[in-house]
Parts: sequence; structure tokens; C-alpha cells
Amino acid sequence: MKRLFVTTILIYSALFSVAQTSSPNNRKIKNSDIKITNQILPLPIIDMHMHANKADFAGTPLAYCIQRDEWPVSATGTEWLETAMKDTTCKRKIMPQKTDEDVMNKTFAIMKRRNVYGVASGRLVEQWKAASPDRIIPSLLYRSDKNDPSPDSVRKLIQLGKYRVFGEIMAQYKGVAPNDPSLDPYWALLEEMNIPVGIHMGPTPMGAPYMPGWENVRARLHSPLLLEEVLIKYPRLRLYIMHAAWPMIDELLALMWVHPQVYVDISSLVTDFSKTAFKSYLTKIIESGFGNRVMYGSDQMVWPELLDIGIETIEKADYLTAKQKRDILYNNAARFLQLSETEIKRHHGN
Ligand SMILES: [Zn+2]
Repeated sequence: MKRLFVTTILIYSALFSVAQTSSPNNRKIKNSDIKITNQILPLPIIDMHMHANKADFAGTPLAYCIQRDEWPVSATGTEWLETAMKDTTCKRKIMPQKTDEDVMNKTFAIMKRRNVYGVASGRLVEQWKAASPDRIIPSLLYRSDKNDPSPDSVRKLIQLGKYRVFGEIMAQYKGVAPNDPSLDPYWALLEEMNIPVGIHMGPTPMGAPYMPGWENVRARLHSPLLLEEVLIKYPRLRLYIMHAAWPMIDELLALMWVHPQVYVDISSLVTDFSKTAFKSYLTKIIESGFGNRVMYGSDQMVWPELLDIGIETIEKADYLTAKQKRDILYNNAARFLQLSETEIKRHHGN
């Protein structure tokens, strides 16, 4: 709070002095004029996993349960949906935004306050990019269904400069493994075009196969080892596993050992699970020596607060060093995305 207050005062005084000195010529304020405000930006953060969604993307407004230490139990699979709907055991809920504008503007407000740059995918990504071209890194969502763009269309969209990242690949929700032949032309294209790619491997909604629309979800598709032949076939592919393949820690460590180019993001783990469960998973990756390939992600959909909650969990983690926090929040993603020096400087306010 204190920092924010100081920032506000400095912005005001900088603008005021610009206005004072420029008023005789009625000169417009230029970016260089307000450089002083940039120098007090918080250290930058890259969110590798955001969604630019419509507020009604899930049909009905959904409360989001965070940092859960126990999950509901169902008598049978058939009763799971009803059990989940009636569940009252959630201790901390956050509410969704009600309009498309609120989802975007409240997300942007947090991004500005915390100096966040986000890899965003979803229906509204072009609008979000147009509204905040400096902070949104557009990514092309892939659902593994008939509405996906063909490989040729993907090539054109990338050539037009509309997307810098490919993902989230949501094949797991359709029961499609990453080594399925349907994905092969996309892997080939992304390797050829040097486009980073993120694939969902990890938690879907709990009990997903017993819910309408997710009948094909299977636990075995959490396995990151399903990526192995893809990585061998396309060794120049720049791939990150979204949700860090939770809970397959042993398989993940084996994969990260054998394939040193694979990164992970910690989205949803950092907000949905108890702090102890998150710490335990993250610590195993870091203690194995792979802390330089872990990246922050919020999985923001219609709950902008997820950004604040996840970032705070990392910033306040007493089991992480200052360097590990910076690596997770920025440095690893900047390296993975191959950001230019100019872009990195700009994120730091230089
Ligand atoms: Zn996901």
C-alpha cells in the first residue's frame, strides 16, 4: 500500500511538472516525459497462463473455491455432479466478474498495479490485445475439436503477427493425448516457426468424466511421459506444461531430466490447492534443481483476483529465496519466450 501511495504521488508530480513546463507550447505529453514514473514500477511479472474470456463463458456465473485443504467425496460417480453442486465445504470463495468489460478492466487494473505481462488466450484475446498492446502477449487456444483452425490457418495467423504463443492446448479435456496423430501437424508447424507452445496437463475440474461435456477426461492423461515421443520427434519445439502435470511429480522430474528444454507453469496449483500442497509440489521441482524452468501462471478466466492471490503466495513464500521468486515470476518466462533485451528493459521501466 505504501509503495502504491508513493507511486501515485510521483505520477501526479511528474505529470504536473510536465504540464507546467509544456503549457506555453501546449505540447502533448509523450512517453519520455513520464519516464520518472516508470522507474518506480514494481519488478515485472510474466503470467504465462491467462484467458481473455467472456463473463458468461461457463454458462452460469461460477464462484471459485481457492486454497482448498479437502475435497468433497461422492457415493458413486453417478452422484458426483449433484454432490459437487451442493457442496458447502469450501472455506474461501471468490466471485466472478459479471460483464466482459469488468473481466478485462479488473484484470488490467491488477496487471498495471503489479506490472504484469500476460500470455493470454481465449475468445476475446484480440480485443484485450488491442486494449492493452504492451501487456498482452496473444496466444492461440486449441481445443482439439472441429472448430480449431487448420495447421494452414495457424501458419497464416502467426505470419500475420496475430499470435506469439500457441496454447492453451486443451486436448486433455477431450480425452486426446499429446502424441495423438491429430496434433502432429501442429507440433511440426510450431517447431518450424519457432513458436512457444503450452499444453494443459494437470487438473481438470474434479470428477470431470461425470460432468456433461467432459466425459472423455481420463486421469492417465495427466502423465507428462505422453509428451516424450513428441519431444524426440520435434527436438526444437519450445514447450511448457501448463499446471506442471500435477500430481505426476516423479514422471515430471524424469521428463525434465531427460528433456532439458521443457518448462512448466504453476497455474491453478498456486491458487486451488492448500498452501502446504502447493509448497510440497513446487519444492520437489526446485530441490531437484529445476527451479530455473518453473513459471508463474494465474489461469485467470473470469476471476481477476486469482492474479493477486497467486502472486502473493509466491511473494510471501518463506521457503523460496528472493532469486527463486524472481525466476518464477519473471526471469524463467522471459528466457523461455526469448524476449528481446529491449522488451525486458521496457518491462523494468527502462
Ligand atoms: Zn489449463
